[in-house]
Amino acid sequence: MNGRLLGNEGRELAHKALELMAQFDVPPTPENYSVWVSFASDTNTDLCESVRKHIESGEAFTEELNNELFDQYFQWAAIQNAIIESGGIMTRELGNVQDSLNAATKDTAAYGATLAGAQGKLDEASDTAGVKTMVETLVSATARMQRRSAELENKLQATSQEVTQLRSNLEKVREEAMTDALTGVANRKRFDETLRRAQRDADTNETPLSLVLCDIDFFKRFNDTWGHQTGDQIIRFVAGCMTRHATDEHLVARYGGEEFGIIMPNTTAQEAFQIAELTRKTVASKKLLRKSTNEDLGKITVSMGIAQYISGEAMEEFIERSDTNLYKSKADGRNRTSTEPEASTRSAA
Ligand code: GH3
Ligand code: MG
Ligand code: MG
Repeated sequence: MNGRLLGNEGRELAHKALELMAQFDVPPTPENYSVWVSFASDTNTDLCESVRKHIESGEAFTEELNNELFDQYFQWAAIQNAIIESGGIMTRELGNVQDSLNAATKDTAAYGATLAGAQGKLDEASDTAGVKTMVETLVSATARMQRRSAELENKLQATSQEVTQLRSNLEKVREEAMTDALTGVANRKRFDETLRRAQRDADTNETPLSLVLCDIDFFKRFNDTWGHQTGDQIIRFVAGCMTRHATDEHLVARYGGEEFGIIMPNTTAQEAFQIAELTRKTVASKKLLRKSTNEDLGKITVSMGIAQYISGEAMEEFIERSDTNLYKSKADGRNRTSTEPEASTRSAA
């Protein structure tokens, strides 16, 4: 039997995807198929959200929209990964090249010094005609070598500068690929990478690590009332509030559409709670105006959930525990922060 043949579950998924594509008049191209299988399997929250929103709007799935969905969730993700990975490899490789160049520069300088030393020794040893000739030969060889090494050094210097420039360009590209374009805070990719590293550090150093998750309250309603663009303005505003109370050691990230995360190394859940509360209150206290018309947008609130890392637990479990506490805040009426009961820190609005 071919191990790659679809099992029952896979067959059902494929069937469901094709059925949905037929229902919404989406042409069965491989790209569209990728999008709809992902939607049918409910594995990518953001993609599901986008598709669902479009279905609810009742508008057609045009060719342009289909391409956009594929680009956003498959093509662009693949390109980003490629940039990040190749950036990492190139940086390492270029580091090696630079090391060799530095070593070569040292070698040529050492060669010049050796020749110069030999000349000195011969001068002291004797002053016979033969030795004189040797000395002259050595002197001119030394001079030639010094000229050559000077040339080589100049060349190496220029190459080294180019390499440094290239490395800094690559770093910039990597930085962009890790940054959320709307808010300027870290994106999900950097969030995952940083959290993984923070967990390792917490294990090694036996230090506390906390995670704060934040979700804007009733945001669908806000978007429906004021439109997506004003919604985006709010997402930027909330990101600003999150960074305002975070320290250099914290990492603020846009975790999902209107969800944020703050990774807090060396921080207990109680300490994280204080910072989360400051952030929550800052968001709730601001009177918001629509940029284009100055209309009063009313107040925006956020709900927060916190968990403190338990040494050795998987990243998914850690996030899940924070998310459970976020859900608790939502269930208890929103605009509040919840954390584990043992941290005895729950707030009411
Ligand atoms: P809750 O209080 O339970 O969180 O209610 P909610 O309406 O905020 O529900 P949920 O968090 O599930 O809604 C997320 C909404 O956020 C859905 C989507 O319309 C909106 N959204 C997600 N990403 C973006 C974005 O990039 N821009 C805008 N304007 N809206 C977004
Ligand atoms: Mg949400
Ligand atoms: Mg929400």
